[in-house]
Amino acid sequence: MLNGTTAEIKERSALRINPAKTCQPIGAMYASLGIHGCMPHSHGSQGCCAYHRSTLTRHFKDPVIATTSSFTEGSSVFGGSANLNQALENIFTIYKPEIVAVHTTCLSEVIGDDIPTIVKKAAEEGKVPAGCRVIHANTPSFVGSHITGFANMTKAMVNYLSEKTGETKDQINVIPGFVDPSDMREMKRLAGELNVNIVLFPDTSDVLDTPQTGIYEMYPKGGATVEQIASAGDSIATLALGTFASHPAAIALEDKCSVPTALLELPIGVTATDEYIDALRNYAAVEVPASIVQERGRLLDVISDMGQYLFGKRVAVFGDPDHVIALTRFLVELDMKPVYVITGSSGNHFETRVGEILKEQVPDAKIKQNADLFELHQWIKQQGVDLLIGNTHGKYIARAEGNIPFVRFGFPILDRMSHRVFPTVGYQGALRLVDKIIDAFFDKKDREAPEEQVELIQ
Ligand code: SF4
Repeated sequence: MLNGTTAEIKERSALRINPAKTCQPIGAMYASLGIHGCMPHSHGSQGCCAYHRSTLTRHFKDPVIATTSSFTEGSSVFGGSANLNQALENIFTIYKPEIVAVHTTCLSEVIGDDIPTIVKKAAEEGKVPAGCRVIHANTPSFVGSHITGFANMTKAMVNYLSEKTGETKDQINVIPGFVDPSDMREMKRLAGELNVNIVLFPDTSDVLDTPQTGIYEMYPKGGATVEQIASAGDSIATLALGTFASHPAAIALEDKCSVPTALLELPIGVTATDEYIDALRNYAAVEVPASIVQERGRLLDVISDMGQYLFGKRVAVFGDPDHVIALTRFLVELDMKPVYVITGSSGNHFETRVGEILKEQVPDAKIKQNADLFELHQWIKQQGVDLLIGNTHGKYIARAEGNIPFVRFGFPILDRMSHRVFPTVGYQGALRLVDKIIDAFFDKKDREAPEEQVELIQ
């Protein structure tokens, strides 16, 4: 499919080919699903909402609910105020959520619809039942990416819901970033092992990885409750996991409720997980239990056993900025060489931080923000790699270049299923990543080795 890609690079300033990102409302919709009893609402046309829901459903393999303002030609000209007003009445009457999280789209942003004013009018007309809430985030897709949308909606949770009562609670906030439900579950498990109370928001575990019971629940038991997000204003501190997806909400909470922020990277790999554990330990003044020390030790054992197969391997990595930064750091811990590192999102911090991580081991690495998969493919054509890591879209590059070993990581993963149940964060997640990388190398070797060189034992 990509066999026509050439190695020769021509400078482009106004064209992205196969961008390594998607649009803001997808991130906002995903974040909204991490509030218990929440109906995400897309203020725009039906097509936007259908695309966002289907992308999330294809990644999580679970039904994703959302409503839409269903813009027509009339609303495109005169604005979507009447549509949203009617939608709020319908949503609370028919679907009975505890909270509605409205995000905008390109169209409603271009029109300039004033969401707070529309919601205020609907509330005054009695269309928002007592005790129910409506929050909103502006998510214009002509700037940013799905990560910006996630960050904006998480920040909206703080702005609308978090309160400071003056009585500090024995709890730590964790803002997890745009990670899978399995990752959120693992972050909570690690905190539980340490005996630390955390308020994780948004939290899509038990929302998008629900067990099969034979009974459909529109609002599953998971998600951070409105009360929990409100209480985040009384927490000891906030751990923001990722500069791009999590930091803006943590800063908003610091400004609004004076809860101090610790900015960490996603806990992917040994050192980043150590930092997550250490931050929880320090803020909560607890000891690290033997169970966590053992988990860490098992990971180190696997890394030292498998190091011979990983050392010096050239890797191309693409995806969301917080994920790629953390993964690059882990690949360096594995003595691998991330030679091409890109994200589709914009932000100078990406290039600065990845450059810092690679300056000793891979000083000539190509690092680029706001990049696309076409250019990454061209780099690979100029000088190949041993491994490609990224979302499902990478499989066309892997295939076009003679089936490069390819590890699926990040969002979206549309052709595999394990990401929503097996984490990539924490020591357990790092074990899984090492396992996937090793399998990708050995599978290729077994597939392509001449008959007389096929090894039973590695
Ligand atoms: S880019 Fe804009 S128009 Fe396209 S799906 Fe996203 S919000 Fe809708």
